[in-house]
Amino acid sequence: MVRFTVLASGSKGNCTVISGGHTRILVDAGLSCRELFRRMKAAGEDPATLDAIVITHEHQDHVNGLAVTARKLGIPVYFTEPTHRAWMRWLTPRRQMSYAQWLELCRKQAAERQAEVVTATAICDAVEPDPEEGEAEVQAVAAEQNDTVAEPKPATQPSMKEDPTWLPAVEYFQAGQSFSIGDIRLDPFTIPHDAADPVGFVLTAERVRMGYATDLGYVTPNVKQQLKGLDLLLLESNHDLEMLRDGPYPWSVKQRVLSRVGHLSNDAASEFLSTAYDGQAAYVILGHLSENNNLPELARVAAERALLGRASLLANRLVLAEQHQPLVPIIF
Ligand SMILES: [Zn+2]
Ligand SMILES: [Zn+2]
Repeated sequence: MVRFTVLASGSKGNCTVISGGHTRILVDAGLSCRELFRRMKAAGEDPATLDAIVITHEHQDHVNGLAVTARKLGIPVYFTEPTHRAWMRWLTPRRQMSYAQWLELCRKQAAERQAEVVTATAICDAVEPDPEEGEAEVQAVAAEQNDTVAEPKPATQPSMKEDPTWLPAVEYFQAGQSFSIGDIRLDPFTIPHDAADPVGFVLTAERVRMGYATDLGYVTPNVKQQLKGLDLLLLESNHDLEMLRDGPYPWSVKQRVLSRVGHLSNDAASEFLSTAYDGQAAYVILGHLSENNNLPELARVAAERALLGRASLLANRLVLAEQHQPLVPIIF
């Protein structure tokens, strides 16, 4: 049995559970761990049975509960390498430091070390300033002073508590290269969006093919190609163009959403559904609806119009994913 359960979809958090065979994975972890577990249980899914988390891109609404959830469950996280790096940078922003400040830090560290160990004289030998390393060394010295019993930890291997980016295991994948997690096969593809290396997926389990395509500025030829022969399609239908234009967002944000690396409008989703889409999916789920610049009825009517003549009992049943509650699991 294959189950596709959208726990949340929208700019306040995205998270979907997909299970097939003996495998159960989470695509994106944009809810807090507590809320994620609550919704999984509400949807009849046991969080303890999750095998892995897969991340589409590093925006907060896709990774908010990632570290806590992965640690609590002790499961691996799959990223592309640029997405993993961007996520780490987001969690550990580098502190800017002038050359004068760096020299001052070196001087302080040298003084501290000399007070502790007479032979320590080479602290300023580094070729270039590294504020993070400097900070870690200061912390290590402080830790030694506070607690003479504990073994001092190497500065390069911070513990889980010290390092907000620590994960039980990290696996890398690349757009265009299929990989499997247990019984689920994933085909990641590049999407145009303002993130480091954003992807969508076609996930296959027990011969059921599910497309996952949200957070994309437009439907590229390659995305059109990927989203064929699906049994289920989760497609972004982010905003109504008029509501966005007349809405409360500042001009710069409107430009970002509308851009080729922003989000898919109702019109753009409909354009895809009425042209390139092959009409084969049993379910079409509209997702990532904006709460400020869209109304569920506008998204629904636009998609229904696009699917006119294709909707039937067997195909293209239209479902709207929600931000604040999980969808009823779709079962194959
Ligand atoms: Zn998003
Ligand atoms: Zn995004």
